[in-house]
Amino acid sequence: MGMKDYCYDGSKVFNVDKFDCDSTGEFKNREEAVDEFIDNLVYINKAQQKLYSERKEGVIFVFQAMDAAGKDGVIRTVFSTLSPHGVKEYCFKVPSSEEKSHDFLWRFWSALPPKGFISIFNRSYYEDVLVGKVHEFYKNDIVPDRMKGIDIIKARYGQINEYEKYLYSTGTRIVKIFLNVSKDEQARRFISRIDTQKKNWKVSPGDLREREYWDQYMEAFEKMINETSTKDSPWYVVPADHKWFARLLVSRIVRKTLEDIDPHYPPLEEETEKSLQEYKKALLASLGDKGMKKAEKQLTEFSVPNLIPAEMIQQDMITKQELEDEKVRKSGFKAVRKLLAEKSMIKSVHDIVEAIGNVPDEELEVDKEEEEAAIEGELDTKSIRESLRKMTEDDGEPDTEFNSSEEDN
Ligand code: ATP
Ligand code: MG
Repeated sequence: MGMKDYCYDGSKVFNVDKFDCDSTGEFKNREEAVDEFIDNLVYINKAQQKLYSERKEGVIFVFQAMDAAGKDGVIRTVFSTLSPHGVKEYCFKVPSSEEKSHDFLWRFWSALPPKGFISIFNRSYYEDVLVGKVHEFYKNDIVPDRMKGIDIIKARYGQINEYEKYLYSTGTRIVKIFLNVSKDEQARRFISRIDTQKKNWKVSPGDLREREYWDQYMEAFEKMINETSTKDSPWYVVPADHKWFARLLVSRIVRKTLEDIDPHYPPLEEETEKSLQEYKKALLASLGDKGMKKAEKQLTEFSVPNLIPAEMIQQDMITKQELEDEKVRKSGFKAVRKLLAEKSMIKSVHDIVEAIGNVPDEELEVDKEEEEAAIEGELDTKSIRESLRKMTEDDGEPDTEFNSSEEDN
């Protein structure tokens, strides 16, 4: 099953009763999905750097869901390999009195991403056609006479469509994701939150009261998706009863969005390139022999993407330009890796992904000999995968009775 099954772009109708929240697509279990998940995170990491450098287009990922559907876990894992610059999460709660005194879209303007940035909307203006519809909050609004008697929710669908169309046509792409958890699975997760001290903070009596409106919410979700799915700003409905599958699918959606954008590092203008080379010559000359060695050493120590094996530089075996040559990079990679390990430079998953994002793909295959030769703490494919694999596990928390049976399927 590809992504098409989960995508609503206006060409088909979403029927909430026919949707299988328990689906795991083509996978039998989590293990089968891990490799693709990791590949997607690596891709997302690389593409976001290009998106940021290019500054052409902003992207918003909107997340909507019932409580306990796993929004926070999805956001934490799928976006975990992104550099904090260029990405921002916004959590939209009950509007403040100031926010309420404006139109319902007002509070979102300041959260729109600049070109090259990603905004994550953890809830959004869609709340105004979800909780706002279910509880008819709009009935408390004081409105001008001309708005009396109109169907406010229907009008909002139109206003949202106009808003998203405007944003798309001015350089902001919006992708909407509904994490669809079943009512039974929500009950199991609530029980686990009540039973597990560490999870107590995640549950409130209010969440449990909202469950009573389940059917009205489902109707509101269905209507919302059918009224606001467009080719340019599609909805994705993600089966969310299995956290690992929801995370995998969302990673696929984010990847596909970035693939569609297809960002590239902007090339330098010929003139700029020339003048930079001139500046470089002058900079090198100003350093003198001793200073130059120091500068090169710093480069190797602090800049993971530009890593050059120190010993190769010291012996004048390689220049930075030469490193860009595929073959040289390949032969230099083992030395780079050793250096990384020795200097304990790999501190975060981000660094790991950054590092593996800058080597030829073939190098990621560990052969037996290499594994045997691995020194303690050395960065190898296995450890990269292990780190990322952890994120596919259930919040990194001990499995509860329900979660473990959930994962055994
Ligand atoms: P968590 O998943 O961690 O519980 P949350 O997103 O549910 O996070 P809450 O502090 O529970 O965060 O508050 C969000 C609440 O705000 C939700 O109940 C949501 O329906 C409500 N909300 C968001 N936007 C609006 C809105 N426009 N009108 C009314 N309520 C809103
Ligand atoms: Mg909540």
